[in-house]
Amino acid sequence: MKMRLQKYLSMNGIASRRQCETEIAAGHVSVNGNVITEMGYQIDSDTDRVTYRGKNVLPSQQKSTILLHKPIGVVSTVKDQFGRTTVIDLVKVSERLYPVGRLDYLTSGLLLLTSDGDVALRLTHPRYQTKKVYHAWLQGVITEDAMHQFRSGVSIEEYVTAPAEINILKKKPNKCQVEIVLREGKNRQVRKMCDFLGYPVSQLKRVGVGSLTLGDLKPGEWRYLSVKEVNQLM
Ligand code: URA
Repeated sequence: MKMRLQKYLSMNGIASRRQCETEIAAGHVSVNGNVITEMGYQIDSDTDRVTYRGKNVLPSQQKSTILLHKPIGVVSTVKDQFGRTTVIDLVKVSERLYPVGRLDYLTSGLLLLTSDGDVALRLTHPRYQTKKVYHAWLQGVITEDAMHQFRSGVSIEEYVTAPAEINILKKKPNKCQVEIVLREGKNRQVRKMCDFLGYPVSQLKRVGVGSLTLGDLKPGEWRYLSVKEVNQLM
């Protein structure tokens, strides 16, 4: 919805309309990263991102989703009983966000954090079979036979995995890097499948979820998803 910047700020709890005008004039408000001091500046509240003194100003009912490059050595929960750094500690935002699924402590890569229950459900419910892409370094060079087994399903605990994809990206004398695509998300599934076949994982990174990829984000970096990206996920 199109509206004046000061109206948007006051509607969403920053201050009175008059005080918001003063804050704008003082250069404390940005739209999509640019400081706006022009009075009466029009924004589109559905697509523009407004910040006040560096913090996002979200419409009270607007949900947000963050794409984080989770580093190794960070837990994918909101709190940790042992005081370890959590993915929520890495994103300094005022909204209450929850991780969408999990990555192991020693796995890095793409993890979404959201305040939108529909996004979380769409990406984690087994019926949607959301595609998850991993790059893994394996100990040993995996054989065609083992890859065939991986693709058709292997037993992990009391469960046989659904068809999956695996392809070699790089071969070294005693190790190889593979790309794995899963459409389910059992606990530590990639590691367990590779263990079962006799090729333990030494490094694991998730590079894609649904239509999203990690892109150029470095470990610990994050960005908001645009409205368009969220719509593409749904
Ligand atoms: N599979 C794993 O084994 N670990 C992860 O973190 C994600 C998928």
